[in-house]
Amino acid sequence: MFARKILNSRKESTIEVNYKGSNGSAPSGKSKGKHEVKDYNKSLDEEINSLNKLQESIEKLNIKEFSDLKKIEDLTKNLGGNTRIALEFAILKKNGGYKWLKGGKIPTPVGNAIGGGAHFKGKSTNFQEFLLIPKEKTFFDKSFLNMKIHRDLQEPIEKLDKNFLLQMTDEGAWAPNLNDEQVLEIMSKFCKEHNVNLGLDIAANSFWDGKHYVYRDKKLTREEQIDYVNDLIKKYDLFYVEDPLEEEDFEGFAKIKNTMVVGDDLIVTNLERLKKAVKLKSIQGVILKPNQAGSLIKLKEVLDFANKNKITSIISHRSGETLDNSISHLAVGFNIPYIKCGILGKERQAKIKELITIEKELGFITIK
Ligand code: PEP
Ligand code: MG
Repeated sequence: MFARKILNSRKESTIEVNYKGSNGSAPSGKSKGKHEVKDYNKSLDEEINSLNKLQESIEKLNIKEFSDLKKIEDLTKNLGGNTRIALEFAILKKNGGYKWLKGGKIPTPVGNAIGGGAHFKGKSTNFQEFLLIPKEKTFFDKSFLNMKIHRDLQEPIEKLDKNFLLQMTDEGAWAPNLNDEQVLEIMSKFCKEHNVNLGLDIAANSFWDGKHYVYRDKKLTREEQIDYVNDLIKKYDLFYVEDPLEEEDFEGFAKIKNTMVVGDDLIVTNLERLKKAVKLKSIQGVILKPNQAGSLIKLKEVLDFANKNKITSIISHRSGETLDNSISHLAVGFNIPYIKCGILGKERQAKIKELITIEKELGFITIK
């Protein structure tokens, strides 16, 4: 086993671990929740050194079952979430990926087509992600439809944003200089035409100043934001709404109705926060980000509690990604119904292609 430094899609340094010939690497968020596990407890270089010092002890561990990852947790308890996750991704790969786990279902892709917010430097939408959730039968067809719609969106965007220069967010979504409702108008038309569900990651924390939700063209109080989001759900038939309010407003989330309300910054893949959200009926869906949880065992605990309480799980990439495809394997291995992994860009495609390969391997599709 050895660890080294590589660059992610945002050209930030991150950690890659090679475990007995298999690689794992960690992503990094931009619109992070306050309560997430820290990527690194020391500097990245120090964490890489510390992990490399554990080489012999890690290689000696007998890791046969998924639950044996507890031994990794114990050995790396002083290290950050990214360091442990990169190592655990490599171990997952070494042990056969999804085949090591007990699942076998292919998730539906939640594709980020247009966006802005914290994921784009410059004038863009307030909402972070406008999401496509297709209803086709296979992952192959769903991901191709997402790519087609992403491509076809260029034309209506150019009609509205005369200075559009094909700029994209960190996740490869178009980043036009338009307001949220202009984008919703365009997106809902495409969704109706192609029978696709429409979703939003509002990531409201990023434009909450402690008193107001500060939009490019208006300022809303908490109550006004709740009414506004509920109106948008009705008007645009929104199937999925992530983080409609700031990250501490569990009660406010419960006032968003008639959609799948999803907690990302609210829950940060943390069991205690999920328990609170279930108690207060804040959400119907939860984002699972491995490095937010800081270990695969903790991620699984959150998933199991969500399943027990009929909360839908969505495994997710981060805005700063690597070519690692472990989230695709976790989605299939744990039967997670949705995966949010972007549409365009080699780091996003790495996850999509892996799922198409697995879908073929499991006999759900035949590609000549
Ligand atoms: C998100 O908010 O869903 C997201 C993927 O963003 P980040 O990785 O920047 O937290
Ligand atoms: Mg989010």
